[in-house]
This record gives sequence, structure tokens and C-alpha cells, in this order.
Amino acid sequence: MLTLAVAAFSLGTFAQKADAASEPHYVITTDGTYPPFDFANQDNQYVGIDQDILKAIAKAEGFTYTLKPMSFNAATQSVSSDQADGVIAGMSITPERKAVFDFGTPYYRSGIAWAVAKGSKIKSLEDLRGKTVAIKTGTSGADYALSIQKKYGFKVTYFNDSETLYRDVINGNSVATFGDLPVLLYSIKNGTELKVMNAKNPYQAGEYGFAVKKGSNAALLAAFNRGFAKIKADGTYQKIIDKYLNASASEFTGNQNSTWNILKANRAAFLDGLKETIILTVIGIILAGLWGLILGVMGVSQWRLFRWISSTIIYTFRGLPMMVLAFFIYIGLPGVIGAKIPALIAGIVTLVLNEGAYIGAFVRGGFESVDYGQMEAARSLGLSHNKAMRKVIMPQGIKLVIPSFVNQLIITLKDTSILSAIGIVELTQTGTLIVSRNSQGFRVWALVAMVYLIVITVLTWFSNWIGKRTQA
Ligand code: GLN
Repeated sequence: MLTLAVAAFSLGTFAQKADAASEPHYVITTDGTYPPFDFANQDNQYVGIDQDILKAIAKAEGFTYTLKPMSFNAATQSVSSDQADGVIAGMSITPERKAVFDFGTPYYRSGIAWAVAKGSKIKSLEDLRGKTVAIKTGTSGADYALSIQKKYGFKVTYFNDSETLYRDVINGNSVATFGDLPVLLYSIKNGTELKVMNAKNPYQAGEYGFAVKKGSNAALLAAFNRGFAKIKADGTYQKIIDKYLNASASEFTGNQNSTWNILKANRAAFLDGLKETIILTVIGIILAGLWGLILGVMGVSQWRLFRWISSTIIYTFRGLPMMVLAFFIYIGLPGVIGAKIPALIAGIVTLVLNEGAYIGAFVRGGFESVDYGQMEAARSLGLSHNKAMRKVIMPQGIKLVIPSFVNQLIITLKDTSILSAIGIVELTQTGTLIVSRNSQGFRVWALVAMVYLIVITVLTWFSNWIGKRTQA
């Protein structure tokens, strides 16, 4: 398994290097849902003020990049942990962040506003006492809310993306939010039912900047600044700003007021997400199956050491929440090993370790539940312990665990949705991204649920079919 992971990993890094042969190539992260700065349009292309600026600068300066949309928090952490070279995500330049990041030329003025649901009775910050305020993890808006939390006595609840957060306020689970003024205004203009309370005097007026990790990627930062000066001088920058701030959302999202239209308009996005989910599931379950088999075989070994190793691994990886494991591999490890781990590889390794532990446990159980008389009979016929295991016990044990394996396949498919946290745009993340541009939560999530059910049905039929053939 390890060799496979390493092979897949080097393949990933190799692919990245190959692109870089002619022009410098960078990995840039962004916030998956931050209109009008960063969002996916209906062709699943990333657009917005940030994205158009970045594209124009890359063209002017002759570099290429791979864009990684994820939550804002993961986007900035990816850069500070060397997983990505730069981040552009409506990121405010703050003194605290300057200790960790180097910022490019500021490109947009912003400030923090607070907003409540349209029709809400909340009139002033004092009214927030005892109520819940929704904030977005790792943002300057969240920091601001926390800085006044004691004074106004409210509780907070965290969200990773702006759209889910707005929904929470509109649905009344929380009563207010703190966030960037231009972003709130844009969402409201496009139909989000919120009301800004301090549009005239935002707190902590500041600016957005493109960021790299402090002390690294100086060439990228310099290219950004040079390119920015060029697009500012030739009017491109102003054109980009006008394009997003003087347009209506429907120009970017099309007509999405029926489930069928949503499906049609976002076909490309759904297919891409589905593809990613299937890749993760299939590669994940195959490698996890092999790894689980190894763990299971070790678990019934004659040698105590092997049994011990197997049960320790199973115990550890069954005990870890999958999201913790994913963050550990994707955000934690790179700093230690000094190399980037592409999100897809980190995702697959997470699945293999987690699902493999479960598979290992039931495979071991399957071997153990073969009647002991079988072993005695085999031994009395003169087979060695190993041979008796391989020829007599294991084939029977494997047949016993096939139903558990089908079950694990379904669990694996569902677990892939957890990997949206490290920025893999699989089905669940696709749903989040689509909702962020059309605000049709009910219809989009119903569609996503349906796609999962269809895939699970097909996979179950398929595995049962295989199961029947092997049982025969
Ligand atoms: N401007 C805010 C910050 O930098 C929010 C950014 C975002 O949510 N994409 O923290």
C-alpha cells in the first residue's frame, strides 16, 4: 500500500513538474464561494474579480497556475503550510497575517459590516445579547466578532462557506453575521435576504491582497505586482471591476428556477463532481481492500509481532475521525516532509487508511470465524500452518466477508464527501459551489442526494452481481 501511495504521490509531483518545464507554474488556492470575488460560473469555470485579475496577470507575466478552490480557511492554511504557492480569496491584509504572509499590492478596499435577516427585529449590537451570531472560520470578520463578543454577550457559531452561513441567518438559527461589506452587498443585490446594518461606516476599513507564505515565492509575488501595475495602467483592472459590480447575478448563473434548469445549467459541474467522487471511491476501495487484506492476514499470523502491528494500525485508524486524518495528511504532513501532497492523493491516502482499518478488522474476523476443525483437518493432512491458511482458511474466510465488503464500498462512497474539507471538488463540494451562486439550497441538495442514491444503487447491484459469481 505504502509503495502504491508513494508511486501515486511521485506521479502527482511529476505531473506538476512536467507542466513547469517552459513557464513557471504555481498552485494558487482560493475561496470556493466568495462572489463577486471568487465563484464558479455555470460552465464550472472560476470567475470573479480575483479570478479575472489573476488570469490577466498570469497572461501578462507569462506564468501558469493550477487553481484550487476550497474553504477560505483551508485556502490560507494551504499556503502557510507550503501546500500551495499563493492565495487570492478576498483576503484582507491585517497586521496578524503580515507575520505569516507576504502580501502583494492591495487591490480592493473593503471593511467589515454586520448584517441580519431582512425583517429582523435586531436594531443594534446591544440586541445581540444572548443570541447566536454566525461567523466564517478563519476570517477577519470572525476575528472582529470575537473581539466584541464579551462586550455584547452573544454566542457564535462557525461556518466554512459564506452561503451556508447566510442561510443560517436567513433561516433564523442565528440572528446576525459579521463579514466583508462588498461581499454582503453583492449577495443582497442578487437576492440574499439580508440587511446590512452599517453600510455607511464599516469597521476596520482595510484592503484585500494576494498572499504568499512569508519569505517564500518571491518571484511569484513580484510577478503579481508587476502584472497588477500593468493591468491597472491599461484599464483591464477597471473593466473587471465594472463587469462584476455593475452586472446582475443572472448574467453569471443563468435561469435556475426549476430543478430541471438547475441540472441543465450545472451539468458540467455535476459531471465533474461525480467523476471525482467515483475516482476517489473506486481507487480508494481497491487500495483499501488490498491494505485491509494485508492487515487481516497479519492479524491471524502465527507471529505475535504481526498480530500486534495489525491490531495497533486497525485501532489507530478506526479511532481517528476521517476529517482529522485528512487535515493531518494534507495540512500537517507537508511541513514535515517538505513536499506538497496533492489534495487528491491526500484524499486517497486518507480513505485507504481509514476504510482499510475497517476492512482489516472484518477480514481478520472472517478468517477467525472459519471453523477451527478446518485447520486441524488441513494440518493432519500434512499442510504447514501457512499453507493451511492460504489454501483452506482464507478462501473460506474471504467468502464470508463479501457482504461486509459491499457495505464498506457504500460507506466509502459516502465518506468521500468528507474530503470536500481539503478542497477536493467532489459531489458534495460541487453542491456547495452551485448553491453559492444560485441560492437554491433545497433543489440543489435534493439533486445531489439523488445522484448519490443512483450511484450507490448501481454500485450495490454491481457488487452483488460480483458477489454472487464468486460465491457460486
Ligand atoms: N476578507 C475576509 C478575510 O480576509 C474574508 C475572506 C473570505 O471569506 N474569503 O478574512
